[in-house]
Amino acid sequence: MSEQNFDLHCHSNVSDGVLLPADLVARAADRGVTVLALTDHDDVSGLPAAHAAARGTGMKLINGVEISVTWGVHTIHIIGLNIDPQSPALVAGLAAIRSGREERAIKMAEQLTRIGIPNSLAGAYRYVENRNSIGRMHFARYLIDLGIVKDVRTVFKRYLVKGKPGYVPHQWAGMADAIGWITASGGQAVLAHPGRYTMGEGKMQELLTEFKSCGGTGIEVVTGSHTVEQYAQFARLAKKFDLLCSRGSDFHGPDESYKDLGQLPQLPEICTPIWQDWALSETARDTAS
Ligand code: AMP
Ligand code: MN
Ligand code: MN
Ligand code: MN
Repeated sequence: MSEQNFDLHCHSNVSDGVLLPADLVARAADRGVTVLALTDHDDVSGLPAAHAAARGTGMKLINGVEISVTWGVHTIHIIGLNIDPQSPALVAGLAAIRSGREERAIKMAEQLTRIGIPNSLAGAYRYVENRNSIGRMHFARYLIDLGIVKDVRTVFKRYLVKGKPGYVPHQWAGMADAIGWITASGGQAVLAHPGRYTMGEGKMQELLTEFKSCGGTGIEVVTGSHTVEQYAQFARLAKKFDLLCSRGSDFHGPDESYKDLGQLPQLPEICTPIWQDWALSETARDTAS
């Protein structure tokens, strides 16, 4: 059998990705992904369509989610893999997070109006599939289409990150709650793209200590926004903290993501993969149908 190609982090238009869940699944299968997790932000409603599309492709689809968490002054993201999307605590927790997004978007638009960019709320909503999933990426797409900035990277840097005019601080879920919902639903909690958090080594170790004590078991080592140096850095931290390692593109759409589905390097040798105990014979069963 050929080598497995795991991509355990990506987004559909249920959150801030561009593609329909079915189109995302088809693209992943076309690019040689053998095990895909759909991990929309704070939402699991794309999973049924994704499963339907995965049937018969030979690719296994894992139930996933990416939860927005506030940890001190930091916003961090925690991925749930192999969750039960019907778990009542998880469903209620995710709904509570989403309910704050529209209010934040109104404030973002007000701030953008003040610097001379009117109507961005209606503009951003043009790119939104589910109203309560509205986020910074939808504003980013609108500002790009207006011609104010050329790409996603620039629009975030100039308008949408802390300290910039379109940024609105927000209280997301607590870390213990988010990990609790994931683990109570039978899933594994993975710290997403740790290289993106602006904190020093000491704070990162504090984060990993607390993440573990809340029940977190994995860390994303190979992901679209990490450099090669960061693969090595987080592989070492995974070893030190006895965390399993994950690999995921964080794909949002053709033309706007760092890496396409399934195109990342393999995990470094010293990593123990998060999928080490997964029953991958399931893959064969899916393929057979
Ligand atoms: P939100 O949850 O609405 O705050 O939006 C966060 C999303 O914005 C992330 O999931 C990414 O898709 C995107 N994002 C955040 N920071 C950046 C950045 N610096 N460059 C590109 N995309 C970013
Ligand atoms: Mn996103
Ligand atoms: Mn993220
Ligand atoms: Mn993501």
